[in-house]
Amino acid sequence: MPQYEITALRYATMSARTRGDNFIFPDDHTAPMPIDYFIWVVRGEGRTIVLDIGFDEVSAKARGRTWIASPLDLLRGVGVAPEAVDDVVISHMHWDHAGNFAGFPRARFHMQEAEMEYCTGRCMCHEPLRRPFDVEHVTQAVRHVFAERVAFHKGEAEIAPGVTLHLVGGHSKGLQVMRVPTARGSVVLASDATHFWENIRKRNPFVLLHNLEAMLEGWATCERLADGPDHIIPGHDPLVLQRFPAVPGNPNAARLDLPPLR
Ligand SMILES: [Zn+2]
Ligand SMILES: [Zn+2]
Repeated sequence: MPQYEITALRYATMSARTRGDNFIFPDDHTAPMPIDYFIWVVRGEGRTIVLDIGFDEVSAKARGRTWIASPLDLLRGVGVAPEAVDDVVISHMHWDHAGNFAGFPRARFHMQEAEMEYCTGRCMCHEPLRRPFDVEHVTQAVRHVFAERVAFHKGEAEIAPGVTLHLVGGHSKGLQVMRVPTARGSVVLASDATHFWENIRKRNPFVLLHNLEAMLEGWATCERLADGPDHIIPGHDPLVLQRFPAVPGNPNAARLDLPPLR
């Protein structure tokens, strides 16, 4: 089995946030609970795959998030030139995962059919469903469809030797997770299938939800695909940078293919 290296890159954060913003079922809803924003890069077998592209500084200001660095600059900081990346996976089209298409001029964008249908279809007539999307990002994605730069997937797909995508839905209709073989076993980059470890471990979903049944089934899928609970990487958990070894000299980058420190 091939083995890949995985780096998580944190590009933004938001500290003025409570547990009530992060869990739907009763909990200590007034207690503070910050959220982090990541993209991920997978390298090995002569390939570089970027998972999600983050938002830009303009969106960070507009939506009140604390900007750390451009996801594009963070990639450069770990030796990846965004303009040379061939494969970018978009886990789902929410504003915080799909805001830098222009930074990847030669990439093919791997998306689930269900997500593109969802973010361009009738559900976007409803403000509560539309809220986490940005029409400019969706428009850019449509332009990439016309430019033949979107690789559509329906369910499961292998995009590099041993690297697979899996449709789980739940949080967004076409949300996909990515399984990556590493030296410590199979790691599932769950993105927003679980924002925090607590969502999946306590079976308490994040507040933004398309379909609860799919979310619960999606957690079971992540657990089946991963080699253990610490092999499931949540999309927004500040604990990721605390638990996994930092890339030397880079406090916003952590190696997920190495065992957790704590
Ligand atoms: Zn999302
Ligand atoms: Zn998100």
